[in-house]
Amino acid sequence: MTISFKDKVAIVTGAGGGLGKAYALELARRGAKVVVNDLGGARDGTGTSDAAAMVVEEIKAAGGEAMANGGSVTEYDQMVEMVAKTKEAWGGVHVLINNAGILRDKSFAKMDMPDFNLVLQVHIMGSANCTKAVWDLMREQAYGRILMTTSSTGLYGNFGQANYGAAKLGLAGLTKTLHLEGAKYNVRVNSIAPVAGTRMTEDIFPEGLFDQFTPENVVPAALYLVSEDAPTNMIIGAGGGGYHAAYVTMTPGVALRQDERTVEGFAAAWDKIIDRSGETVPQSGGEQSIAVMKALQALG
Ligand code: NAD
Repeated sequence: MTISFKDKVAIVTGAGGGLGKAYALELARRGAKVVVNDLGGARDGTGTSDAAAMVVEEIKAAGGEAMANGGSVTEYDQMVEMVAKTKEAWGGVHVLINNAGILRDKSFAKMDMPDFNLVLQVHIMGSANCTKAVWDLMREQAYGRILMTTSSTGLYGNFGQANYGAAKLGLAGLTKTLHLEGAKYNVRVNSIAPVAGTRMTEDIFPEGLFDQFTPENVVPAALYLVSEDAPTNMIIGAGGGGYHAAYVTMTPGVALRQDERTVEGFAAAWDKIIDRSGETVPQSGGEQSIAVMKALQALG
């Protein structure tokens, strides 16, 4: 089975280097027309360059179709304009990979709030801006595949990345609601948690591992998650040739009788509340509420 992107139009944000570039090259190789978005800044988000145009040249040299966009994902109007230009040129947008990102790492004690805010702006608002800019079009087309970029930091935490972790788990949350709102329109939304040797991680990887964790190892997962047969509402980890799923689970917990609903009663039930046997993966907030209601009804 060959997974093709022929006749598909894809936008990849932050595709001037690293993971985004690897996604863009492979999408184009598989037949997609690709918008390579990147303002070409440094790792902390400062400055600009023609990184996007260089990737477009590479795609064209290999016989693919691509156009560069130097807009910032933080500017909603620029993202709306990018989508309008794409539609005008190629008739639609079928795939959006929200990949652009920056780092402003510091322990929370030393972190300045403008650095906290900027990281949220680029990751959360950047992804929301681009997604909102394609959302109506994807609904009208009754076809859309959107990939958010989360991170192990968001899912599990990492010292010195409070801003980044908050933003990245937020993107998993955005995925979980947008997949519900998109389902009726064949718009599928997933998240990827990549691990790759890029300029973002060049001073973080332990010696010897940087070259093993190539962006190309993340590409199979990312492209599958935006393909025709993509799942929806998944969080997939990918790096160095390892692939796995991450879930937000719920323990069966307990339903306490009225007289047990005290701080002491809660403390006494603690081991049962956190016992993971029989845990489930609710597919919506509503499912979580229904599970709680059922447990309460069983109390009589
Ligand atoms: P990278 O620095 O090579 O790529 C990020 C790109 O985003 C850069 O080219 C940058 O110019 C662009 N960008 C930044 N701000 C932008 C803006 N406002 N508008 C448009 N483009 C902008 O790093 P990467 O490792 O390839 O990261 C890609 C994504 O993967 C990021 O969201 C990152 O947080 C995420 N991620 C990476 C890793 C990893 O191990 N490399 C791990 C977890 C998550």
